[in-house]
Amino acid sequence: MNTKTSNKTTLQEKAGVSTPDTTSQQAISNLKKKRQEQPSIADLLKEIIAGNTAALSRGITLIESHNAAHKTKSNTLIQMCLEHRKPSIRIGITGVPGVGKSTFIEALGTYLTGLDKKVAVLAVDPTSSLSKGSILGDKTRMETLVKNPNAFIRPSAAGDALGGVARHTREAITLCETAGYDVILIETVGVGQSETLVHSMVDFFLLLKLSGAGDELQGIKRGIIEMADAIIINKTDGDNLTAAKLAKMDFKRALHLYPTKASKWTPKVVLCSALENKGIDAAWDLITDYINHTNNDGYFTKKRQEQNAFWLLQTIEDQLKDRFFQDETIAKELKTQMALIADNKRSPFAVAEYLLNLHKTGV
Ligand code: GDP
Repeated sequence: MNTKTSNKTTLQEKAGVSTPDTTSQQAISNLKKKRQEQPSIADLLKEIIAGNTAALSRGITLIESHNAAHKTKSNTLIQMCLEHRKPSIRIGITGVPGVGKSTFIEALGTYLTGLDKKVAVLAVDPTSSLSKGSILGDKTRMETLVKNPNAFIRPSAAGDALGGVARHTREAITLCETAGYDVILIETVGVGQSETLVHSMVDFFLLLKLSGAGDELQGIKRGIIEMADAIIINKTDGDNLTAAKLAKMDFKRALHLYPTKASKWTPKVVLCSALENKGIDAAWDLITDYINHTNNDGYFTKKRQEQNAFWLLQTIEDQLKDRFFQDETIAKELKTQMALIADNKRSPFAVAEYLLNLHKTGV
């Protein structure tokens, strides 16, 4: 059988004809080669600026990579992007699961593309590493927006801690702005810490709420209400309408109890039905009012400058921590020292100082 095969191959080779096997092997090898051929950062940047969404996705994948060589490349890419960024409005959207975030984003995104705006949707989802992209990974969510050529949707990267996810999202914003997206929507689940991080990367922070449960103020952490520039009461349709109107009054009253914001903006409450496309225009009008208000007194720029400073310090903190714990000497010594602490032979503070010095000197 071997002889047969080799005879056949020889004859075909003589005739200059390739077998289906060699053709597909060649195709696979070409494909592999193509995949390995990473475009240069300058080429990637050019494609991102041209609005090529595949290039934008590739850029974000590069940002999310844990490979050290990729990290250097992604830093170069982001640095190069900085001078090509176009102005954008960054909006954070939060609310408990089921409140209608993706339905609202679908409605708002579609409305905005109707106004000739390009819309990018990113996510900070701390649960995505457990459920493999629960928040936006499911493509059945935002069905219309996914197909819209003026919209770009990117789920959270799975397998990262919250800090990492948030940092990558913050970097992805820069790439989306370079690609010319006018509005960047950043979705997060209403569980606490992720809101604080999203709040520190957006211009406007939106809290989606439900009415009619009789416990309007229950379940929202004080800190999240305090961060909100607007509360949108969703599902204001059908039997919910009366309850929603009451909830609006309750929220308005509650918002008055909070101190005046640095933006001097009084948070507003809007009724909406994402499902029936009602109140979406009012929500957008509110956001543009806020942008005008903060642009007029310079707060818009000031806030972004403060956010840059925050992210610089946050990144240094994260990276110092990573470097420390990834240091092999530290990892080994930490185990030994833990045992000494457990036996009360050394104090945690003395050990901390010893390990930090050990890491610093590398001796
Ligand atoms: P998320 O988990 O916050 O993203 O919520 P979804 O957008 O997935 O919505 C959860 C459920 O609420 C879905 O069944 C939606 O169809 C429904 N929903 C969302 N918005 C509205 C609305 O305005 N009115 C009504 N009645 N249902 C809605």
